Amino acid sequence: MIIGIDLGTTNSLVSIWQDGKSTLIENPLGDFVTPSVVGVDDDGRIIVGSPAKDRLLTHPDRTVAIFKRLMGSNASIKIADLVLKPQELSSFILKQLKEDVEAQTGEKVSEAVITVPAYFNDTQRKMTKLAGRLAGLKVERLLNEPTAAALAYGLHEKSDNEILVFDLGGGTFDVSVLEMFDGIMEVRASAGNNRLGGEDFTRAIAQYFTEQLRHDGLISPEGLKKLEPKVMAEAERAKIFLSTNHEYESQLIEGQNQFAISIKRDKFENICESLLGQLQQPILQALNDCSISANQLDHILLVGGGTRMPIISKLVTKMFGAFPNKTLDPDQAIAKGAAIQAALKSHDESIEEIVLTDVCPYTLGIEVVTDTYDSKLVQGVFSPIIERNSTIPTSKVQTYYTVYDNQESINIKVFQGESRNTENNIYLGGVSVNVAQASAGDQSIDVRFSYDTNGLLEVEALVVKTGERKSSLITTGEDELNDEQVSESLKKLQSLKTHPRESIENTSVLYRANRLYEQNIGEKRELVGRLVDYFSGIVESGDDEKIKEVRARVSQELDQYEL
Ligand code: AMP
Repeated sequence: MIIGIDLGTTNSLVSIWQDGKSTLIENPLGDFVTPSVVGVDDDGRIIVGSPAKDRLLTHPDRTVAIFKRLMGSNASIKIADLVLKPQELSSFILKQLKEDVEAQTGEKVSEAVITVPAYFNDTQRKMTKLAGRLAGLKVERLLNEPTAAALAYGLHEKSDNEILVFDLGGGTFDVSVLEMFDGIMEVRASAGNNRLGGEDFTRAIAQYFTEQLRHDGLISPEGLKKLEPKVMAEAERAKIFLSTNHEYESQLIEGQNQFAISIKRDKFENICESLLGQLQQPILQALNDCSISANQLDHILLVGGGTRMPIISKLVTKMFGAFPNKTLDPDQAIAKGAAIQAALKSHDESIEEIVLTDVCPYTLGIEVVTDTYDSKLVQGVFSPIIERNSTIPTSKVQTYYTVYDNQESINIKVFQGESRNTENNIYLGGVSVNVAQASAGDQSIDVRFSYDTNGLLEVEALVVKTGERKSSLITTGEDELNDEQVSESLKKLQSLKTHPRESIENTSVLYRANRLYEQNIGEKRELVGRLVDYFSGIVESGDDEKIKEVRARVSQELDQYEL
C-alpha cells in the first residue's frame, strides 16, 4: 500500500485509497488533521501534533512549528537540548502519519506519495524526499499540491478543462494553472510565494493588537514583548472568528492584568490590503506564463485553510468574474488527491489510468561566456536549457563551444533562476569535461538536462568529437546531505524516543489543561488547576476504564475555559 501525505506548513494529513475512494486516516486523538508541530516532552521524548501545539504557549523552547518554511535551508533548529534540521523535524510528522495508517489498517507501510508546493525548488524537494527516508518511507513520488487538489476534485475525469488552483496554506501561497486534455493532466504554469500564507494574516492582526496595546499605554515595552505569544494566539483566533463573524473582542491576560483587544472585519480587510496585493502578482504571472486569460478558466479551486477567509473568495471572484469552487474541505483536498496519485502509482484497477505531468517552476541552465559585437568576452551569462514552466518530465539538449584557444576542459556550472546574470541565480552544481586542445570554437559539447517529476535534475555532457560522456545528478552543494550525513541523521533520530502512543490521549488532555491554566486567571485558573490534579491522579491509578471515562469528562469541562 502506498499512502498519500499532505505535509503542510501548519497541518498535515494522510489518506489511503480504499474501496475505490480516498479515505483520510485519523491520528491517535481521532482527528484527520495533525498540526505540523514537534515538541520534546519533559522526559526528552518527541511529541507530535496537537499536544505539541498546546505546548507552543507553555513551553516555547521545547516546541517548534512552521518549519516547512525552512525546508531546503541549512538551518539548525534548537529544541530543548536537541539541534535538528528542518527535514529531521518533518520526518517526525511523516513517521507519525505512517504509524497512524499502520495502526488503523494493521498493514506495514513503507511507501508514500508526498505533496509539495509547486513552487518548491530542487533542494526543498530533495529535503522532502529525505524527510520521508528518515521516517522509513520510500517516497514514490513528490506530487505538486495543486495537481493533488485537481485530482481530489475529480477533474481528471472531465476533459478539456482549464483549471486554476489557488492554494493559501499556513505559510505558503501557490497558484497553478492546470489543463486536462485527452487523459493528460498537465500543469501549464505555476507561481507563488513560499514566504506568504495564512500566518501572515495572523501576524497582521497581531501587529494591530500590539499597536492597540501600545496606544493604550497600559503596558511597558518589556511587558509587550513577554505577551507576544499570547497576542499571536489571540490573533489566530480572531482571524478564524472573523471568517464567520463581524467583530472579535477579547481580553489578554498577563499576571493579574487584563487588556481589552478587538478588531472588526472591515478593519481586518483594511490591514490586509497589501497582503492581498501580494497574492495577485503570482496569479497574473502564472496566467501570463501559459498565455491563458482569466475568462478561459473553467474551474477555480480554492484549497488551503487560508481560503476560508471571506476576503479571499471576494478577491478571486473580483479577479476572475466567476465564483470559485470550494465544495471540498479546503484542508483535506490535497491529502485526498495524494491518495488518488498513490492509487495511480500502484495501478489500482478501480481507478482509470491518467497521465500526470508537472512543470519545473524555475528556468534551469548553465553559465556561459558570450562575446559582444566588438569581440569582448562577457563572463557569467546565464544560458537557459529548460525554460520555466516547461512540462516535465523533460529532456533538452543544447550545444556549446569552446571560447578560448587550446582550452583543455569545459566546466559546466548549473544554475536555477531567471536572471541573465548567473550571479543573481542559484548555483546548483556542476560537472567538468576534458576536450582536445584546438582553436576556440572548434570543440563542442552537447549538454543534456533531464528533469523528472520529482524535480531532480540529471546533467549529461557529451564531448562531440570523442563521444565521451559525463553525467551528474545535480546536488545543491552545501545544502545537500551526503550519505554519511544521512546515516548520521538516521542515527541521531533513532536514538530519540517518541512519546508512547498509548498515553498520547492522556498527555494531550494534560497539556491542553496546562495551556488553559496559563491563559486564564483567578478562579478559572484555580479550577483548571484542580482538574489537572484530579486527572493526573486518575491517570496514576492505572485503571484504564476509569481513565477513559474521566478523560472524556475533563476534556469537555476544559472547553469552557478556552478563551
Ligand atoms: P493549511 O496550511 O492549509 O492547513 O492552512 C492553515 C492556515 O489556514 C492557517 O494560517 C490557519 O490560520 C488558516 N485557517 C484555518 N481555518 C481558517 C478559518 N476558518 N478562517 C481563516 N483562516 C483559517
